[in-house]
Amino acid sequence: MSVDIDCVVVGAGVVGLAVAREMARAGHEVLVIEAGEAIGIGTSSRNSEVIHAGIYYPPGSLKARLCVEGRHALYAYCLSHGVDTRRTGKLIVANTDAQVAQLESLLKRGLENGVDDLRLLERSQATALEPALECIAALYSPSTGIVDSHALMLALQGDAEAAGTSVAFHAPLIGAKVIADGFLLDIGGESPMQLSCRRLINSAGLHAPALARFIEGLEPDKVPRDYLCKGSYFSVSKRVPFTHLIYPAPESDGLGVHMTVDLGGQARFGPDTEWVHTEDYQVDPARADGFYSAIRSYWPDLPDDSLQPGYSGIRPKISPPGEPASDFVISSQREHGVPGLINLFGIESPGLTSCLALANHVRTLIESETPLPSHD
Ligand SMILES: Cc1cc2nc3c(=O)[nH]c(=O)nc-3n(C[C@H](O)[C@H](O)[C@H](O)COP(=O)(O)OP(=O)(O)OC[C@H]3O[C@@H](n4cnc5c(N)ncnc54)[C@H](O)[C@@H]3O)c2cc1C
Repeated sequence: MSVDIDCVVVGAGVVGLAVAREMARAGHEVLVIEAGEAIGIGTSSRNSEVIHAGIYYPPGSLKARLCVEGRHALYAYCLSHGVDTRRTGKLIVANTDAQVAQLESLLKRGLENGVDDLRLLERSQATALEPALECIAALYSPSTGIVDSHALMLALQGDAEAAGTSVAFHAPLIGAKVIADGFLLDIGGESPMQLSCRRLINSAGLHAPALARFIEGLEPDKVPRDYLCKGSYFSVSKRVPFTHLIYPAPESDGLGVHMTVDLGGQARFGPDTEWVHTEDYQVDPARADGFYSAIRSYWPDLPDDSLQPGYSGIRPKISPPGEPASDFVISSQREHGVPGLINLFGIESPGLTSCLALANHVRTLIESETPLPSHD
């Protein structure tokens, strides 16, 4: 059986759902195809659920721009759709002079990115906010917060469906070919079918590069190499004496083992960084040793034997170990020459925060393309 449709979005994570909503509300007929049995089974349910302010990213990068834009849009969206958020605020902590210099650079970078409410705190000011904190200085970000990511995805799905989107589960994309006026797709799973579409948006998270590589007609050198960087979390059995999110000074390959809470008040520590070759989400209890030492740099009173393995997520990296994190790559006709195709690569953190801004960016790219020939 062959079905014609205007726009197919691959992947029902937070980004695919936000893109589907945006495209449907702009008048496109949209089908989301998801390999799994439900929305948000990938990275979107394996993260810290933090609404980032936009401090860390190089000024002018997509990450910087879409995080700041996305944060404003996300708080407003959640408020209007009854999705729980909390502006917990966050402290990035320095315990050495070199880290204080890092905080000063972060403050400057944050300001350049449009994060205009940051404050550098002396030790006494930081411990007035968090008495149990060990630090010599801290960078305070009042607009950082947390979100109920599953409720957010349900709201995005609801909006997309209300605008006419269909979401098909157990529907993995297993083959794709560029044709004269769009794409011919092979969908596997429970009800295998062929389908043609005019626009194809690859929002398959960790699998986006692999999926792009099997699109016949897309030059292989337009697809970046992908790497997997796992982040494990540990939960804590004792009461945690912090009300703000607590982050160490960032490390070369991540934000460092930080303390976040979910909206139910459960604290967790992580994610750490571990470059892996397979998608395995087991948390190795032996990694706790690294957590105790990292956490005690800012919370010396962390009791022995209080950490338990929690969950893990995998960052969809397109830069190798040892190199600075790549920017989001949103590859359109301008980069790869195929009309109607958008590939979203390397949508790691702050992808959750940026989802609405990413969706807006994708729609703008599609609308700026040369019009496709009509299907009929
Ligand atoms: C450890 C960790 C912590 C993070 N913390 C934060 C944070 O605090 N704040 C923040 O803003 N961001 C955070 N992020 C980033 C954020 O989670 C991601 O950017 C975001 O969830 C990516 O969403 P997505 O929709 O692109 O991908 P996913 O959620 O992975 O969705 C992709 C979907 O595509 C489907 N799929 C794959 N292949 C196919 C196929 N062939 N056919 C059909 N479907 C397919 C998958 O089943 C999946 O459902 C974190 C990420 C990690 C790893």
